[in-house]
Amino acid sequence: MNNFRSKSPPDPSLTKEGRRNFVRKTEDFVCGNCGNKVTGDGYTDHCPKCLWGKHVDEEIPGDRASDCQGLMKPIGAEMKISDVRYQIKYKCTKCRHIFNVREGKGDNRELLMELLNN
Ligand SMILES: [Zn+2]
Ligand SMILES: [Zn+2]
Repeated sequence: MNNFRSKSPPDPSLTKEGRRNFVRKTEDFVCGNCGNKVTGDGYTDHCPKCLWGKHVDEEIPGDRASDCQGLMKPIGAEMKISDVRYQIKYKCTKCRHIFNVREGKGDNRELLMELLNN
């Protein structure tokens, strides 16, 4: 009697695993200031409506190294010529950490302009 050992083909889903590109985590959150439901795209760290943010990053935007989770109040903004984008200056209402964040897609322009004059 021959030993029939059928070789099963490698599972294609397994070969894909391991070579997966680094994907930023997208986080949906509800704005702690105005209650707006924000759909995260992986870079979103503040509410586009009222521009308030949440203290989740420590040093580098996106590092998510802080466990403060306090509300970040926008206190100013400036245009970085090299970047052609606005930088929003935040102050955490909980730990008073000062943080600069780049404007996001669909941010409230009127509020941004107001912040520029601060
Ligand atoms: Zn908001
Ligand atoms: Zn904080």
